[in-house]
Amino acid sequence: MKYFVSPFNNDAKVKFPGKITIYDTTMRDGEQTPGVCLRTPEKLQIARKLDEIGIHQIEAGFPIVSGEEKKSVKAIVKEDLNADILVLSRTKKEDIDTAIDCDVDGIITFMATSELHLKHKLKMTQEEALNICMKSIEHAKDHGIFVAFSAEDATRTDLGFLKKIYNRAEEYGVERVHIADTVGAISPQGVGYLVRELRKDINTEIAMHCHNDFGMAIANSIAGLIAGASAVSTTVNGIGERAGNASLEELVMSLTLIYGLDLGFKLENFYKLSKLVEKLTNVSVPENKPIVGRNVFRHESGIHVDAVIEEPLTYEPFLPELIGHHRRIVLGKHSGCRAVKAKLDECGIEVTKDELCQIVEQIKKSREKGKYINDELFNKIVRSVRGLADL
Ligand code: MN
Repeated sequence: MKYFVSPFNNDAKVKFPGKITIYDTTMRDGEQTPGVCLRTPEKLQIARKLDEIGIHQIEAGFPIVSGEEKKSVKAIVKEDLNADILVLSRTKKEDIDTAIDCDVDGIITFMATSELHLKHKLKMTQEEALNICMKSIEHAKDHGIFVAFSAEDATRTDLGFLKKIYNRAEEYGVERVHIADTVGAISPQGVGYLVRELRKDINTEIAMHCHNDFGMAIANSIAGLIAGASAVSTTVNGIGERAGNASLEELVMSLTLIYGLDLGFKLENFYKLSKLVEKLTNVSVPENKPIVGRNVFRHESGIHVDAVIEEPLTYEPFLPELIGHHRRIVLGKHSGCRAVKAKLDECGIEVTKDELCQIVEQIKKSREKGKYINDELFNKIVRSVRGLADL
């Protein structure tokens, strides 16, 4: 068995759509993380890796932003990946024309719809916003590409207006409407209500774009799918503005293991993908980040280590090899003989029982003196106990 989750997850009332589309926005919303700038070779590396793991759609960038950004998008399109390539456009003709010039499969065109954004950012009325959106959608549809309409700040928008603008977008032929929870301010129950309300009036596919300001991006994305949405946006490592976006690896692993869905992803490449994005964006993955964090498969406590050596699923919901991660036994003040023996076996070192006890003793002492037990110190302790000189 490679994973073991709660049997109470099997609720027959919880239904998911038959087909779920994941569109990854690491290279657009993820790149909007303060301080991140991805150039063409870096974007190409990420796009190839995303395609390799089986992502359905890649939001490759925002081509109107700069010449280099446009070049990056064009280069990704030229790769002829399996994933569809989408880009972001404002509801402006020049944005859409730039996207079309990149030969992308589709666009996500957006407009803020909440009173707050209309008043303080756009300085326009609902009617004006609606007309601009429809003009842009019409222009894009004239070019025969996939068009998604995203209502920015949708989760803080008047429901009547939101329904109206999505309805009109549907009439204008969009393939998908996006609910952007721009500041991560909705609850899973709120998403459930909103999506069910929209479903009463809209037949077009609904996508969730969730931010993680309250740590609910994954729960909100999943609540959306259960309520009738069938597409979700993600970023690798959950990077993005402020607290970031719904993380790709968390979403896919939750849907696969917790809910038992088969999305066709190559899970074993997730850890490598996470490391690649960490390196290229310079945004470090927190040690306790779910799924890909450094500590997710590290154990120190003697009680845990003993159990994990016997049966890893005692203290891991799934085995690290499922995502290409590694288990590490960390030696420290909580270590027992079994953990140290496992580490010695790993290094191919045989010791007597008495030597083993002395090594354990030394490790605890060193750690309590404030020393971190890395491989170098571990070797030093082993050699001193066995009466061998340091190399
Ligand atoms: Mn966003």
